[in-house]
Amino acid sequence: MIGRRLEVDLDAFARNLAAVRRRVSPSRHMLVVKDDAYGHGVEQIVRRAAGAGVEWFGAFDVDTASTVRALGDRFRIFTWLTVGAAEIAHARDLDLDVGVGDEELLEEVADAAISSPVRVHLKIDSGLHRNGVRPERWEAFVERAAALQAIGRVSVEGIWSHIAEASDAEDDEARGTFEWAVTRARAAGLGPGVRHLSASAASFARAEFRYEMVRVGAFAYGIPPAGGPTATDLGVVPAARLVAPVVAVTAESAQVGIGATDGIPSALAGRMRVRSGSGWHRVERIGLHALEVSALADTRVGDEVTIWGGDAHGVTELAESIDSIGEELAVRLSRRIPRVYG
Ligand SMILES: *Cc1c(COP(=O)(O)O)cnc(C)c1O
Repeated sequence: MIGRRLEVDLDAFARNLAAVRRRVSPSRHMLVVKDDAYGHGVEQIVRRAAGAGVEWFGAFDVDTASTVRALGDRFRIFTWLTVGAAEIAHARDLDLDVGVGDEELLEEVADAAISSPVRVHLKIDSGLHRNGVRPERWEAFVERAAALQAIGRVSVEGIWSHIAEASDAEDDEARGTFEWAVTRARAAGLGPGVRHLSASAASFARAEFRYEMVRVGAFAYGIPPAGGPTATDLGVVPAARLVAPVVAVTAESAQVGIGATDGIPSALAGRMRVRSGSGWHRVERIGLHALEVSALADTRVGDEVTIWGGDAHGVTELAESIDSIGEELAVRLSRRIPRVYG
């Protein structure tokens, strides 16, 4: 019997990377690999991306960054969650690009510098209020960064922010704040270096949001936005297919060997269909370890059922039915489900 697994099609992933590049060029693509590369497995994803010419990786935390660093000493690895002296020292030793969104962290990072400055990217809070220096404190912040750069403690490599990508009007306002922040950084004597503001949605839809670099995760894995354009519209394909076997069959129903403890949200019961070689099955219940689905006339133990991806629904379509987003389903899939690469 086939085992349950997440099949990751690395060729499809590489074609998505090419689609991202075509779309955002001449801006660079920082591939975001947080949450184990959105559940796809960070090591294989980074290897393939590096082979396809990706030079920047967005790693979120220092732990992930350290995994990425082990795969290539020349990569630029951006991390934006660094907490405490030990992690800062680790980030320095790994030669990371550190996102700095508050004054205290800037001082801590500067203190950690030994023989060479630590590379930093300064973050303005452009309205999302998720970390970042508020505009009223920004001028003092960039002046301090310039002073620390002058004495060789930090090297300001970039200015960045994160936007909601929920409405064009809000994003435009955020971009206005971002532009102002870059101007003030220049006035403080900083070359702003690499400016980066947008994630998948804005970088695909809006050229003026791309600057020198975009931080794209979801679309590179073929995960489209909920309620937005489809993967086909975007020119990408889902890189992953989740498969599990039928483990028991009765007259009307069948049990498929994957369940809530594996990360299938129980709220999807009654709202999703899965697909076997014989056709579509309604998912009636989601147990801890199995999905109870409608049986077709020829359903047998051992049949392979696609839960998402392939010729079944995409993660985003499933997520939409429970007001969630595709990324959330992808990253919640348990590490117990083997990742298989082809
Ligand atoms: C997750 C994340 C991204 C990537 O977002 P996608 O929509 O998956 O492309 C970019 N920047 C930051 C700060 C993030 O946390």
